[in-house]
Amino acid sequence: MIPYGRQDVTADDIAAVVEVLGSDWLTQGPAVERFESAVAAYCGAGHGVAVNSATSALHIACMALDVGPGDHVWTSPNTFLASANCALYCGAAIDFVDIDPQTYNMCPRELAAKLERAATQGHLPKVVIVVHFAGQSCAMREIHELSVRFGFRVIEDASHAVGGRYLDSRVGDCRYSDIAVFSFHPVKLITTAEGGMAMTRDPLLAQRMMRLRSHGMTRDAVLMDQPSEGPWYYQQIELGYNYRLTDIQAVLGISQLARLEDYVERRHAIAERYREQLQGLPVRLPHQAGFARSALHLYPIQIEQAAERRRVFDGLRATGIGVNVHYIPVHTQPYYRAKGFAHGDFPVAEQYYARAISLPMYPTLASADQDHVISTLRTLLR
Ligand SMILES: *Cc1c(COP(=O)(O)O)cnc(C)c1O
Repeated sequence: MIPYGRQDVTADDIAAVVEVLGSDWLTQGPAVERFESAVAAYCGAGHGVAVNSATSALHIACMALDVGPGDHVWTSPNTFLASANCALYCGAAIDFVDIDPQTYNMCPRELAAKLERAATQGHLPKVVIVVHFAGQSCAMREIHELSVRFGFRVIEDASHAVGGRYLDSRVGDCRYSDIAVFSFHPVKLITTAEGGMAMTRDPLLAQRMMRLRSHGMTRDAVLMDQPSEGPWYYQQIELGYNYRLTDIQAVLGISQLARLEDYVERRHAIAERYREQLQGLPVRLPHQAGFARSALHLYPIQIEQAAERRRVFDGLRATGIGVNVHYIPVHTQPYYRAKGFAHGDFPVAEQYYARAISLPMYPTLASADQDHVISTLRTLLR
């Protein structure tokens, strides 16, 4: 089976992990700090807070921005469940903003229009979580301008986008956001098996998220309500979780990070080959916006005739091509429908979903395997 995405673990990665297993630290220790510094330096954010998944990072990002009951959080319907669930973990209300039909990211014009309406009704969002779908950055400058005008905070769900660029900076540098979140799940750009990281420029947000990933505990005397009782002393000053990453995972991440640039290059070469060889077929290829360089986590095509999508999907699967579909619009999930959302609420995301197929896209995809994908697709669409 040729999967739609897969990790690349080298002998060097394995050696790094094995070495940690014999060291003093297995759980969060010096390697986690090194991994945080390395990712922060790579994308220019200042601070990185490593956690056990991007889902956890999104949760503590919302908490650090004081999202709670009575607050509204908006995100894209074209995303994985976690981008919306994180607001619900905090007791906030979630809503969605439809996508742009070209980029499949949250549409800034839709966002502006929805903000105008919300302003007159008095329920503006506290936080907007934008999602860099397939690895392509959202129009962050426009979104930042709206955040200033309407007074909300911005989280970037950059789970697909470590290694990507927006204008002249790297995704994750938080120039136009409060916090950006990466995922290190094996299908993403680099992996720690499970893992994620929240990036920020704000040292206080970083400190708060570090506390929230470890039970809300502090050893900082300044934050305590009484003098320390001794070197063992700590205080819990708010409710946090155990969201820690292990040193075993962190060394894998450090080792993988060294290859990220090459990985993204390779993904672009694969995309270029798809673009050349799929010309003229009744499919729509992913648009690459001029303001961004995508990390190309996914290569989602749209079958022009929605009624044909299932046949093409099944045909690809039948010849050993593990295509997938990203994403089922979150608002159409039963859990979200029970909250009052319905099919038809975000039609652009739904129309996109009805036609979408994610083709294999990963740095070790062999040319012969890509040829097989292309020729199978040509046969199925003839
Ligand atoms: C994968 C993914 C997540 C969750 O990542 P985990 O590390 O598996 O928790 C969140 N948002 C998006 C857009 C994702 O693709």
